[in-house]
Amino acid sequence: MPFKENQVVTIDFTLHDSDGNVLDTTAEDGPMSFLAGQEEILPALEAALADMAPQSTKKIVLKPEMAYGPYDPEEIHVIKRQELPDDIDIEVGVDLLAEADDEEEEAIPCYIRKIEGDEVTLDFNHPLAGMELHFEVKLLEVRDATAEELEHGHAHDASNHDHEE
Ligand code: ZN
Repeated sequence: MPFKENQVVTIDFTLHDSDGNVLDTTAEDGPMSFLAGQEEILPALEAALADMAPQSTKKIVLKPEMAYGPYDPEEIHVIKRQELPDDIDIEVGVDLLAEADDEEEEAIPCYIRKIEGDEVTLDFNHPLAGMELHFEVKLLEVRDATAEELEHGHAHDASNHDHEE
């Protein structure tokens, strides 16, 4: 039976890029749960899961436009190392939040793509932008959300039940 909005769906998954490199997997941290209809996961992925029966598995391929969008070369910015705050680790792959020019705007997530001498390349694309995503999913369980989960607008599982939001 397909799941409905406001049900909590628990899955195991492995995500590969189109070359077979593992990008993410629940094999290490255990299954992931999400509250259906709340865009906790990619909407196209959620839609593809909706007809799965518990304990079944499925391969799902999402083109970039169904996932994190195309890669935009304009979203690369090179700055000087000293423009970054002193208290952060300047290493490739580190996630940062860039302050927007306009104080009204929210900080913009980016990551360090490259470091060459004094120059640090920041990439404001999503790390998975431009990538075709290959999911292998096993749907483990579907249950009704608790009142607390509905109030919070997300699923609670072993990995996030201690949060303070
Ligand atoms: Zn919560």
